[in-house]
Amino acid sequence: MPKKIFFTPGPSALYYTVEEHIKSALKAQIPEISHRSTTFQAIYEEAVTNLRELLALPGNFHIAFVASATEIWERLIQNLVVDHSLHLVNGAFSKRFGEISAELGRKVSVYQSEEGQVPLIKDISADEAPELVAITQNETSTGVHFPQENVKALRERFPDAILAMDVVSSIPTTIDFDSIDSFYFSVQKCFGLPAGLGVWIYNDRCLNKAETIREGTQSIGSYHALPKLHASGLKNQTPETPNVLNIFLLAKVARDMLDKGLDMIIRETNYKSAVLYQMLEQHAKLSPFVKDKALRSKTVIVADVDGDSSTIIDPISKKGMIIGTGYGPHKKSQIRIASFPTHSKEQIELLADQIALLS
Ligand SMILES: *Cc1c(COP(=O)(O)O)cnc(C)c1O
Repeated sequence: MPKKIFFTPGPSALYYTVEEHIKSALKAQIPEISHRSTTFQAIYEEAVTNLRELLALPGNFHIAFVASATEIWERLIQNLVVDHSLHLVNGAFSKRFGEISAELGRKVSVYQSEEGQVPLIKDISADEAPELVAITQNETSTGVHFPQENVKALRERFPDAILAMDVVSSIPTTIDFDSIDSFYFSVQKCFGLPAGLGVWIYNDRCLNKAETIREGTQSIGSYHALPKLHASGLKNQTPETPNVLNIFLLAKVARDMLDKGLDMIIRETNYKSAVLYQMLEQHAKLSPFVKDKALRSKTVIVADVDGDSSTIIDPISKKGMIIGTGYGPHKKSQIRIASFPTHSKEQIELLADQIALLS
């Protein structure tokens, strides 16, 4: 049977080089090595070095490997918030982060927009003084992009707060390091790796804040407390036995992306999203869910369906292409299409042509 192509927004298609890298990892017995060996330390270092280069990370930013983006939500609150976090919510993922902070007993301010839009900075109460402000650069549930100028405005509004940005379904992109203190992703979306690895990037400010909180009475967690992760990272190690295979694969795929070039990846992302939105604009049964073009995600394209989403998803799946349902309550009324770095221009054109035929 020919291989299916997954355009689902997570997990998604593997990066096109991953199969070969898994084969070479097995040949080199990577999953069998000790995580305290020099071989592992070299893999760790390679992953960090390649990611630093790909993201053009400044020296005051650091990288830690954990289990998932969901874990990073919990660690951000434990390590960086004593009392109060503020969340800009425009869909299910940004909402979940706020809930986790509340579950950990923090005071939580939520500014929620209508779906398909973003909360406005001017609507934030003048009384707010959060320790952490949470932004989701790309809301995977609704296909909404959080504009860079709003991030900048948040930084100006909250100069003393830690700004943490979820980039799970938008990385690799260019990041404004002056505006944010931490950003994070899990690898099964844009990086096209098997699930089970979270990448947490944080600056010295985050580290200092975690160390200050540690001095007090509140727990910052145990094995994945930020200072502990940081100290292990300096030795090219992790506190626990990590997902060695995935760290190996991340090192390789980050190198492959570097060889391709971030500029090229971004240019292709722009082109592919234009193809998909143009098809949606012209389709009799589909229309882009996000009306404001400036807020449209280029990596997760969400469309309203006139009728049940299965009338699009099923015939496309018969062609070997798997697209996502709507998220949560929109399961039957929307479709979601991932256009990640692994999806080639040709694959996206083919998909757009096939969906157009269902008009
Ligand atoms: C998928 C996703 C997450 C959660 O990732 P996990 O790997 O399941 O923890 C968080 N934020 C966004 C925007 C996502 O798309």
